Amino acid sequence: MENYQKIIEDIYLNLKNVNDPGKVANYIPELGTVSADNFGINITDIHRKSFSIGDADKKFSIQSISKILTLTLAYQLEGEELWKRVDVEPSGNPFNSLLQLEADFGKPRNPFINAGAIVICDVLISHLKNPKEDFLNFCKDICHNNNLAYSDKVAQSEKETGFRNTALCNFIKSFGNIKNKVEDVLDFYFYTCALELSCAELSQIFLFLADDHFLCQKGKTVLTESQAKRVNAIMLTCGFYDESGEFAFRVGLPGKSGVGGGIVAIHPDNYVITVWSPKLNPKGNSYKGMHFLEQFTTQTGISIF
Ligand code: GLU
Repeated sequence: MENYQKIIEDIYLNLKNVNDPGKVANYIPELGTVSADNFGINITDIHRKSFSIGDADKKFSIQSISKILTLTLAYQLEGEELWKRVDVEPSGNPFNSLLQLEADFGKPRNPFINAGAIVICDVLISHLKNPKEDFLNFCKDICHNNNLAYSDKVAQSEKETGFRNTALCNFIKSFGNIKNKVEDVLDFYFYTCALELSCAELSQIFLFLADDHFLCQKGKTVLTESQAKRVNAIMLTCGFYDESGEFAFRVGLPGKSGVGGGIVAIHPDNYVITVWSPKLNPKGNSYKGMHFLEQFTTQTGISIF
């Protein structure tokens, strides 16, 4: 355990100045304003010991990492019924693809591609009185941290340029798998992607997936043991767009990335590790983040396999 600080420091120093061929996402213009040099890491174990290096306390746009949180709340509220609306198969396609929806009659392949997360947001809107406020409170509750917020700037920037997500939502609605108004679903979806957390905060918020005994502020477990197993399984098979197999192959942990350059990975019964470096590889995953985690599980010899 004590070695974590030294291991993350060594890998950080190894990677800090490597030539990073990645590109900061700018299809959401506001994301393009972030400095490419940010690089932070945090690992928090199930005993709450936390180790950080670099920009681990700077908040950033978590983007698709929020899809784990929306899925978790929808799973709490709907139970197994949820899988009637969204499948649990890897898509093998880019995160914003419309391709498979036609053949699959509007049922997205999994909750971690945009189509799936949009359906999950629709499910949440049907349950929640004030979706944005209630979802934010849920997030605060599970990480025991009131200092969480959405970035209005990022949400607005995505709203202005979110043509593909608008197409996805309309297309799914044409099959009857969106029940609420398209504008409301998209507005909520864009805000969930615009949540801002630091690496240290992200490790903390996902402890419930690593620790069976983790309790939220209300003293309850966030998911049952079986539900947590399933969310981890979907992360392992679907968490990295069409590079999910590659991440499992190289890193060997369930995880989820976002186009803000963050990656969260879970070692059940052990720890949560979060890396942030904004430059993305061609598949949309943080270039240094992938390399960092590969080196981490290789050097520690600890993965789920
Ligand atoms: N808000 C982003 C989008 O919908 C999320 C993409 C991602 O992080 O995968 O395009």
